[in-house]
Amino acid sequence: MTTLTRSDWEQRAKTLKIESRAFVQGEYSDASAGATFDCISPVDGRVLAQVASCDQADADRAVKAARAAFESGAWSRLAPAKRKAVMIRFADLLKENAEELALLETLDMGKPISDALGIDVPAAANALRWNGEAIDKIYDEVAATPHHELGLVTREPVGVVAAIVPWNFPLLMSCWKLGPALASGNSVILKPSEKSPLTAIRVARLALDAGIPAGVFNVLPGYGHTVGKALALHMDVDTLVFTGSTRIAKQLMIYAGESNMKRVWLEAGGKSPNIVFADAPDLQAAAESAASAIAFNQGEVCTAGSRLLVERSIKDRFLPLVIEALKGWKAGNPLDPATNVGALVDTQQMDTVLSYIEAGHADGATLVAGGKRTLEETGGTYVEPTIFDGVTNAMKIAREEIFGPVLSVIAFDDVEDAIRIANDTPYGLAAAVWTANLSKAHLTAKALRAGSVWVNQYDGGDMTAPFGGFKQSGNGRDKSLHAFDKYTELKATWIKL
Ligand code: NAD
Repeated sequence: MTTLTRSDWEQRAKTLKIESRAFVQGEYSDASAGATFDCISPVDGRVLAQVASCDQADADRAVKAARAAFESGAWSRLAPAKRKAVMIRFADLLKENAEELALLETLDMGKPISDALGIDVPAAANALRWNGEAIDKIYDEVAATPHHELGLVTREPVGVVAAIVPWNFPLLMSCWKLGPALASGNSVILKPSEKSPLTAIRVARLALDAGIPAGVFNVLPGYGHTVGKALALHMDVDTLVFTGSTRIAKQLMIYAGESNMKRVWLEAGGKSPNIVFADAPDLQAAAESAASAIAFNQGEVCTAGSRLLVERSIKDRFLPLVIEALKGWKAGNPLDPATNVGALVDTQQMDTVLSYIEAGHADGATLVAGGKRTLEETGGTYVEPTIFDGVTNAMKIAREEIFGPVLSVIAFDDVEDAIRIANDTPYGLAAAVWTANLSKAHLTAKALRAGSVWVNQYDGGDMTAPFGGFKQSGNGRDKSLHAFDKYTELKATWIKL
């Protein structure tokens, strides 16, 4: 994918110019109060930049700019085909700047550069392009009215959208929101995580260069409890879209209720079951998949296959295959193109993950792989991919989202048992089923309370399929045409003929 070596990337990292200010009304600016926070790289612990720490005053100025831009119609009333052309240009600019964006992402949150360049940036560009391409192909409706009436059912952009996103796929999660939000004519204020603000800040300029008018797309870096809360409570934000933890998702619903009843769409946490039946068609493939499902992106994935449910009759045969497969996932410097497990996003997250490993021991689970911090001498925050066997679904490591590379292996006895354990969680984001029996695959998939179910694979999907959660994993869907539901209001217009 890239011919650049680790030392090429390190050289580029040294000379990289990092923009760290907010972006409002088509310009970069400091936070109103002049405050900043340190942006620390988990790769080696060094300070990358002092980033604008926005607050209420910044939220006010960004919402004002976004509202004025929306009312002007420069974007909101532009012909869909013209918005499409701009969105495609925006996507192209992401691709043209892929190496810079990938480097920013890796330095900022620790993911392997090969993933940032090979997965995150292309997928983010594709989200912009796909939604742009869709927007002049979606038709409104005419209602089935009596002869002397005409009923038009039309979709309109909601207005001002605040998008609050997490740090695990900073650019991609942003673009899953930006694609449909901008394509459908809204103005957007993006609030990246304080742990990974750099790519959001950079793409603001690319959006402007692509032709998105000033004020239509704004970026406010800063903390959740300051600028995030200010946006969530703002009386002039029409819709709040969020990806992040279930705890904060619940808080945002309260903020909406306390303010203007803005629409709130939530993509939240997960504790996804990966069910391997004894009749799985290929145990080796299932084992490799189970390893990547917990180690990819350092396990910092909302759909991580963090509960591996294995039919008891094959567990002793299957677990060694998973342990062996996980040996291929090794923490290393994320700027090395050969690395497939990078650094955890920061010290706080590393400590959280290590505390769950402690909890696994304390609850009586058996550690069979990993279990420790590693590469401490680098100054970065690395944890070995870890497996606990002998886990019960009542243990803390099986109930709570760890958001790190820690796998819980749980044995089950039959289909009913597997489904009961799989669904015994507050979450419902994703699940996988491995079996060669077609009926069993379908019946199990139907019984699973999850927004995505994979059969004989883990983590399939693309822009054509909706993505989101049941239960406390959220509401609404990102990706696919269904995502436009979040960003448009339905209007019925009745005309007397
Ligand atoms: P988080 O909830 O701590 O933070 C997410 C965002 O919310 C950040 O930008 C943060 O600054 C902001 N925030 C925090 N407190 C706030 C407040 N009081 N008001 C407004 N905004 C506030 O989550 P995180 O640690 O950044 O991300 C990890 C979580 O994201 C995990 O739970 C993971 O499962 C989830 N996630 C879900 C999906 C999905 O599509 N369902 C995708 C990726 C990540």
